[in-house]
Order: sequence, then C-alpha cells, then structure tokens
Amino acid sequence: MITAAQFRPLVPNVPWSSFKKINYGWALKRLPMVALALLSSWGVGGFILQSNKAPVFVAIIGSSAFDLVFLGVIALADQQLTSRKSTHKLYWVLNIGAATLAALLNTLYYSGGSYGNITAESVTHGALFAVFGLLYSLYYHSVMTIAIEQDELESERLNAIVDCRYCKTPCKNQAAEYGHFKTCVMHPKNRSISNE
Ligand SMILES: [Zn+2]
Repeated sequence: MITAAQFRPLVPNVPWSSFKKINYGWALKRLPMVALALLSSWGVGGFILQSNKAPVFVAIIGSSAFDLVFLGVIALADQQLTSRKSTHKLYWVLNIGAATLAALLNTLYYSGGSYGNITAESVTHGALFAVFGLLYSLYYHSVMTIAIEQDELESERLNAIVDCRYCKTPCKNQAAEYGHFKTCVMHPKNRSISNE
C-alpha cells in the first residue's frame, strides 16, 4: 500500500547519524523534476543574457530564482502533505506558472530573443522540457494525493476506535461500544443477570 510517509524526504524515527534517514525512493522520484527545472533554468538565464542589457550575475540570479521557486514549491508540497483544496490550487497555479514561464523564455532564447523568429525547432528546444516536467509533476502529485487521503482515512478510523469501558474490547466507534454493552460480560447489567 502507498502511504504518505513514502512522499516525505526524511524517514521518521531514524536518527540523523544514520544513512537510512534519507528517503532515497523519494529522492529518485523527485530527481527528474530537479533535472528538468535545471534544464529550463539554463534557457531562462540565457534569455536574460541575450538581451545584452544585463550582466552575467543578473542572469545567474534570474535562473537561480526560477529554480528556487520551483524547488521550493516541491519542498513545501512534500512538507505539508495535506489534501486541502486551497493548497492544491496554489500548488498548481505556481507549477503551471513556472512551466509556462520556462517554456516561453526557453523558446524565445532558442529563437534568438525574438517572437518573429520562433520556429518549430525553437519550440521543440524550449517548450518540451517544461511541458514534460509539468506532466511528471502532475502524475507525481496525483499519486501522492491518493496516498495522503488513504492515510487520513486510516487515522480517522483509528481515532474513532473506543475501548469498552468495562472489558476493554476495542469497538470501532462510540455507537459500537453502546451496541457491545448488550453482550459485554463485564457490563454491570449483564453481570447481575448472570449472578442471579
Ligand atoms: Zn465490554
């Protein structure tokens, strides 16, 4: 079964000194997104440089900012791991925004910085990695959401469990405990009957 823990970067209840602290499965699954973001940031930086109006360090800051936003969104999404609708919407607005910006700036970069020069080849260079990254992120997030919902259902089920106050038998909820009283051997009413 998939659980939300598989979507966390660190393994809980493992000391920091252990190499098992890092969730390597998580890192492997996230690696394609990091690689695609880095690829896209190359075009973002290149585009800034191409204008001949900005020095190299501005291009580096620009492309890093793009990467940091993208990776920050991923890190926050993994940390929060909620199935709340508002968080989801923002996650997608940021993701789609980053992918669109990357596709646009990369395509322009490979077109020599001019909309007039956009060709099928420059779109292939510029847009496909961003689209691919977005699709991968869509897939990853949907699998993660299912796992979180399963975890939430399971914790609701565990929270609802009530132990019988007389014999300590676990009952699935409060109503089930009251139902169980009829047959509970330790219930005062049943004990008085059996004693008669
Ligand atoms: Zn009982």
